[in-house]
Amino acid sequence: MAPFAGLVEELVRASLTDGQAYEKLALLCRVAPHRLSGSQGADRAVEWARETMIRDGLENVRLEPVLVPCWERGDTAQLEILEPPMPSGEGELRILALGGSVGTPGEGIVAGVVEVTSFEELANLGGAARGKLVLFNRPMDPALVNTFAAYGGSVGQRGQGAIEAARVGAVGALVRSMTTLRDDSPHTGAMHYEEGVDKVPSVAVSTLGAEKLSGLLRDHPGRVRMRLRLDCRTLPDRPSANVVGEIRGREKPEEIVLIGGHLDAWDVGEGAHDDGSGCCQVLEAARLLLASGLRPRRTLRVVLFLNEENGLRGAQAYYETHLEELPLHVMALESDRGGFTPRGFTTDGNPRAAAMLAAASSLLSSIGCSDMLPGSGGADVSPLRRKGVVTVGLYPDCQRYFDVHHSENDILAAVNERELELGAVAIAALAYVVADLPERLPPNEVTDGESR
Ligand SMILES: [Zn+2]
Repeated sequence: MAPFAGLVEELVRASLTDGQAYEKLALLCRVAPHRLSGSQGADRAVEWARETMIRDGLENVRLEPVLVPCWERGDTAQLEILEPPMPSGEGELRILALGGSVGTPGEGIVAGVVEVTSFEELANLGGAARGKLVLFNRPMDPALVNTFAAYGGSVGQRGQGAIEAARVGAVGALVRSMTTLRDDSPHTGAMHYEEGVDKVPSVAVSTLGAEKLSGLLRDHPGRVRMRLRLDCRTLPDRPSANVVGEIRGREKPEEIVLIGGHLDAWDVGEGAHDDGSGCCQVLEAARLLLASGLRPRRTLRVVLFLNEENGLRGAQAYYETHLEELPLHVMALESDRGGFTPRGFTTDGNPRAAAMLAAASSLLSSIGCSDMLPGSGGADVSPLRRKGVVTVGLYPDCQRYFDVHHSENDILAAVNERELELGAVAIAALAYVVADLPERLPPNEVTDGESR
């Protein structure tokens, strides 16, 4: 790795003095702040990304078609406390419909509430949840330093809450927001229904709202009644696209090192961290290399995926479109954990590949980004794992990500310019080294031998 050390230092200097990731992000947040799949904002983001790639000098810039779901939040999301009587101004809890939820009848749903912290607890309630709204109130575990692990431990109630609620005859799901913060801002996210199970509405309640409601249930057992009104809806699928551009390899152009993020974002806030940051970092990584006159041995391919948040259709479309050349994908790196100070990477690479990656990331010790930890790349590159592609994820500091994640607070002002640029140059350096090493990273085992 020694031959790359000077080059990495130069890239870092170029990034800190003349980086353009933040400038790109500012533009994206202005052009397309709301870019949920199927929206006009998403269309504008796709066009912005295509133009940015062309302007930065990427090659083979193209749109690859993806059919995406189209869910609209609507204008009404109201959760009122009807009983017990509340002081004026305190009778409503702030909510956001979860993505994919059905709406309610115009007059709303009026029902009592039961509280649980797990699906087991819900099942044990027997008939007590029938006809009620279920408050799923399991916090993210604050004892875990890795907030992604804490998220993973609680997010099931958001994804599956409506299904489990309907199974016991409940009429709706109220889900505590997935955040480590105690505040009054609800955090949305994807939820699912299951064939054959009633579709009941599902909403996120802020953490303070969930605790307030929990207190009411404790102080007024059996007496709490609420009205939920939602007018969100699902429309037919719409055409969209992944945005792809390349720096063609100088010796082995058929071998691919992919770097990517997802262009879609939830419709609240600006998707600045999730995942505007990741998109702008991988775009900027390519620009930095081009500006430094660096053309690696293998092809560096930038992919901005659509529909990570509520369907992963872009990831699946990429997998299907590029099935033939997946054996030539040397690495797929994703940035989708926020634009915070980079600490290192996670990888699912086999021992030999992981050792090579660790040697490459050690070149980033001067910016504190040398960790190469076991883990996965991320949701958009996950389908590629079935074909043995080694995946890598940028791993930034994670203490603040869930303050803003999927909420109206995920805006440009929450992103620090220097932290963002450091992530971009970390990706540039690692991707360049992997794309330029004489020896290719050895692939993982293929777990799916089928053609699909
Ligand atoms: Zn994301």
